[in-house]
Amino acid sequence: MRLTRSLLTLQTAMLSMLNDGRQPENKSFRTDSPSSVLNTDTSQCDSTTTSKYASTATNSFNYHEPPIGVEYAHNPSVFGRILEGALPSTTYAESDELYAFQDIYPRAKLHSLVIPKKFIPSVKCLLSTCSCCSADGTHDTQPTSILNRKRSLTNNVPVSSNSMINRQTFHERLALVLNMKQMACSILQKKEPAAYQKGDYILCFHVPPYNSVDHLHLHILAPASEMNWAYRYCKYLCGTPWCLDLEELIHRLENRIKEDT
Ligand SMILES: [Zn+2]
Ligand SMILES: [Zn+2]
Repeated sequence: MRLTRSLLTLQTAMLSMLNDGRQPENKSFRTDSPSSVLNTDTSQCDSTTTSKYASTATNSFNYHEPPIGVEYAHNPSVFGRILEGALPSTTYAESDELYAFQDIYPRAKLHSLVIPKKFIPSVKCLLSTCSCCSADGTHDTQPTSILNRKRSLTNNVPVSSNSMINRQTFHERLALVLNMKQMACSILQKKEPAAYQKGDYILCFHVPPYNSVDHLHLHILAPASEMNWAYRYCKYLCGTPWCLDLEELIHRLENRIKEDT
């Protein structure tokens, strides 16, 4: 009885640490202030302490050329500001469709984020369990749609329908995720070759509402064995409701494609 209660208390504490303390409906659709950016990827328990993995590399304000049809002005997240060079970042890798940079609060010797330049709010959007994408699975980033989406979110009206999402959409999503994996592996190989060889790393996505930024980002953490236990076994623990393993996402997308065949 007492044990159950302490476990519940522990679980509540862990969950509040994982969450940013922000509710989805309160999330700002545009963040311009650098001071609010500094608080985006931190948990409540350590917001006053700095990471032991302080960056030695310099941050720079660089514009990252978007793919055709992508406009950063339509991306309401802080990562949109990083991509357009309004906010600084430390670059790890870049391709036509992806950008990798250092996490603002590194929780491992190597802690990088790989993001698509195209605006995709979260991993739920890839799996069609979100309420922010249209019926065909596309995330329309026109300003009017953002307003409509905000309205549909507040009204709790689900606007996505699984049956209407075609196979092509899932093929494209899988291709994007595989490219993210490829970029992550090349960063691991280059920056932490020993950890990469041993499989001593974490590749994961946070699941809403436990994500800190509303733009899809793959976490690369290595060596995992040197991480603080609270990050290794809590915030970045795959298989929990808040953390999805990269391989698990690939597996789920492959299954969706098979189901539709
Ligand atoms: Zn969505
Ligand atoms: Zn995250």
